[in-house]
Amino acid sequence: MRIDVFTVFPSLIDNFVGESLLGKAQQNELIEINAHDLRKEAAGRHKAVDDAPFGGGAGMVLMPEPIFAAVESVEAPRPLLLMSPSGRRFDQDMALELVESGGFSMLCGRYEGVDERIATELCDSAVSIGDFVLAGGEVAALVIIEAVARLVPGVMGNDDSAGDESFMTGLLEYPHYTRPAEFRGMDVPGVLRSGDHGKVERWRRAQALARTVERRPDLIETRGGLSSVDKKLLAEFNLDPK
Ligand code: SAH
Repeated sequence: MRIDVFTVFPSLIDNFVGESLLGKAQQNELIEINAHDLRKEAAGRHKAVDDAPFGGGAGMVLMPEPIFAAVESVEAPRPLLLMSPSGRRFDQDMALELVESGGFSMLCGRYEGVDERIATELCDSAVSIGDFVLAGGEVAALVIIEAVARLVPGVMGNDDSAGDESFMTGLLEYPHYTRPAEFRGMDVPGVLRSGDHGKVERWRRAQALARTVERRPDLIETRGGLSSVDKKLLAEFNLDPK
């Protein structure tokens, strides 16, 4: 899995991906992350990459010449995704698509964004990490890197741990507990300590369902509502929706 990032702040990417899970994944050669400086091909002493917008208005816009040149100077994996608030909304399904792709690249905007010709002619598509505006695409790229990297087999250590999680099954995840069994008068649910694995499974599934019904009814709707099996499971643990 190779991921390349084009940015005016390559050290932001390098520093983040050098630590923790991503650092280890790179050491173990499970994933390769390359940050490239968008200024590397820029002309002049100041290596300018931005200029004022045609038509006027506030802020600066990334110019096509240095940005095309920077991207064309390396053989970065495609697709090249532009980080942009007006792109396709990133989600777990997209993370799964990207991990299947085997490699991809991202271009981080700054200032007011990029010249539209960069968006339409250099990049393959645009991706947003949510309906808010960041100062630059670097944090968005890191969000995507982290969500995708933990799906690469071997990166998480325990390959099982990625399968069960929020969104993977179209449901939010069930609650977790660890030692101690009693903490400041708060007890771990008895079923988790019962040793009855079938019941633990059913309890977790019921908890995931109940939590999703309460917090994200849109996800239940996407699944086509609650099935009769779902309803029975909720009833078994007195979690019937009100
Ligand atoms: N003027 C632009 C916002 C520019 S923000 C607009 O209104 O759409 C500067 C850069 O930050 C963008 O070019 C983009 O690369 C990045 N960015 C900001 N918000 C983002 C988001 N929600 N998702 C992905 N990238 C984002």
